[in-house]
Amino acid sequence: MMKGGRNSQRYQSRREFLKNGLYAGLNASLVGSLLLSSCGKRQRSATNVILISIDTLRADHLSCYGYQRPTSPILDKFASQGLLFEDVSTTCPWTLPAHASLLTGLYPRRNGVRAHTDRLRDDVLTLAEVLREHDFITSGIVNSHWLSKTNGLDHGFEEFLYVKEYADRTKPTRVEDEARNWLSKRRDKKFFLFLHYYDVHSDYHSLPHYEKQFVRPYNGIVDGSTSQLLDFRYGRIPLPNQADTEHLIDLYDAGVRQMDDGMERLFALLEEKNLLDNTLIIVTSDHGEEFMEHGGVLHGRTFFQEVLHVPLIMRGPNLPQGQRIKGIASLIDVMPTLLAMLGISPPPGLDGIDLQSLWQRNNAGSPKRLLFGEADWNNIVDNKTVDDIKRFIRQNHYKLHVNRVTGKMELYDIVNNPDENIDVSSKHTPLVKLMRSRLRDFLRIGRTGRTVDPLSPKEVELLKSLGYLQ
Ligand SMILES: [Zn+2]
Repeated sequence: MMKGGRNSQRYQSRREFLKNGLYAGLNASLVGSLLLSSCGKRQRSATNVILISIDTLRADHLSCYGYQRPTSPILDKFASQGLLFEDVSTTCPWTLPAHASLLTGLYPRRNGVRAHTDRLRDDVLTLAEVLREHDFITSGIVNSHWLSKTNGLDHGFEEFLYVKEYADRTKPTRVEDEARNWLSKRRDKKFFLFLHYYDVHSDYHSLPHYEKQFVRPYNGIVDGSTSQLLDFRYGRIPLPNQADTEHLIDLYDAGVRQMDDGMERLFALLEEKNLLDNTLIIVTSDHGEEFMEHGGVLHGRTFFQEVLHVPLIMRGPNLPQGQRIKGIASLIDVMPTLLAMLGISPPPGLDGIDLQSLWQRNNAGSPKRLLFGEADWNNIVDNKTVDDIKRFIRQNHYKLHVNRVTGKMELYDIVNNPDENIDVSSKHTPLVKLMRSRLRDFLRIGRTGRTVDPLSPKEVELLKSLGYLQ
């Protein structure tokens, strides 16, 4: 039992919310159970939820996102049976804050998890907490120390298992074993299972079978280890040349293919357990990975699309099959969307939005929507702290990168210049001014509990007059 004024208050308001949410959820469940599919056939609503996060998985290295190599036949098939969101951004390009956003529907500065030592704020409700209050068994199996209990991401999970990550990726992950064990012993009650896989993350190693398929002959020094990638990053050894970079990509792609086969084993188990037809399955990632597109490796320090763009694929009862969603989305939308699909009211004040209208009404999403991200990363390099603090704001197809340390700003049109190598900030001064001002607003809200205001009518008029909005 929590004691003390602040915590009592917190629990009172949380209880109130959960009580109201439960009431709304019951009503919505009644409606949900009567839902008809588009062909008029009565279908069952999802009763279980499996949320899968594959750490460091770049969307554009999956075949279903247009990659030219066959890295993901299983996820391609999975996407053909459900919904694929084409344009999803993370909130932060490294593991801890990105997952905190995924599990709370809040930007890092609102849930309190921005730096290595931060813990999830006590007054923030997690997806697991809300589902647990709605009688789901909640279980998490995670594969990174960032997600272990120390940072509070276990809030709401009745069972939470941290499977220690190892650099050696040549064995099938223990997360898969633990997931199989858990599903095999499952009680006869609806559940929420969160699975986090670290297999695609460096070190980039995989079984010989996968390396044979993806790794071309190479005679250089690159070995795909995190320690060597950090040596590149900090200038201890010269940056990878083109052949080195291609080798890194080959090793990474082999790992993606190996992970994809792991998904096949998981889906086969769900089928064997008769769980496929009444389980909502969501596959996503926390961030991508750099392969020298902008002069770096790994992730965590920039907001270019190679680290920002993550996959989001959903499959489940009552969901359309094979639909691709073009509207802009973010990891913060997963929690409100999932709760809405289950007929459960989301906690008030989430930053994310319910994405259902994007497929139910063929809505392309609002071009007025603003997305934000931040990376507060104080690197320790050779015993010295190096500030490296960056932010971004996205409006429609424009993304403004802001470096707080140097003051540098870059604006890219990521639709017409997906490589983000033509800075158009000097040609779009009024837009940059508006985005900069909205970014400042976002940074100011911090812990106030406020969400960011939508664009005002005056701002919408300005963007329209400049041709940024139709
Ligand atoms: Zn990560």
